[in-house]
Amino acid sequence: MAAAMKTTQSMKGMRYAVAAMALHACGAFQQPRTTRGAVALRAKPKVVVFDLDGCLWDPEMYMLSWRGGAPFTPDGDAMLAQSGERVVLLGAARDILRQLRTTDDWSATKVAISSRTDEPAWAAELLDKFRVDDMVLGSCFDAREITKESKSSHFRRLKEKYACDYEDMMFFDNEYGNCREISQLGVTVAFSPEGVTGDVWAEALAAFPSESIVNDYY
Ligand SMILES: [Mg+2]
Repeated sequence: MAAAMKTTQSMKGMRYAVAAMALHACGAFQQPRTTRGAVALRAKPKVVVFDLDGCLWDPEMYMLSWRGGAPFTPDGDAMLAQSGERVVLLGAARDILRQLRTTDDWSATKVAISSRTDEPAWAAELLDKFRVDDMVLGSCFDAREITKESKSSHFRRLKEKYACDYEDMMFFDNEYGNCREISQLGVTVAFSPEGVTGDVWAEALAAFPSESIVNDYY
């Protein structure tokens, strides 16, 4: 089992290295830099959308349903559930949201949530209690779609709300089925099985706009 996991991880590492080499070869990493030092992208999404459970934070709320979730208590950078488990922001979630909310490069981009969590009230509490520097996590989002409807419904409403095309949107989700559903609409989707990591974020930005799922190793 451990050997299989290790093999899968090394395959993922190889895939990313190959993708990075290919991007470098076609000049994707040689884009001009702004005076602020950030990469000036050729194209930038108008709306960036994040799933919550297993993508922005861990564990997923359904895992706490029987063991005890809210009320959550701050515990360093994490939140302590009633079960005693720590809920943590995954990967580079904090850094990415900070970048989206505080840099001029991203001032024209809307940031949204698309979640079908089993415990929306707990998710709302976590959004109110987690911090990104001096910001409340929830304040990092312009729109929240947190309902049991399909993710396609979430995206249809976001598209109407921001009067954009699906091709202008970017989405991160840890469930492959959701990625496939939303990719078929024309959204650039990044499969994020370990949450929004710096690698997945960079790969998605380099690929945008993309008809195929980013980080799709199936
Ligand atoms: Mg999820």
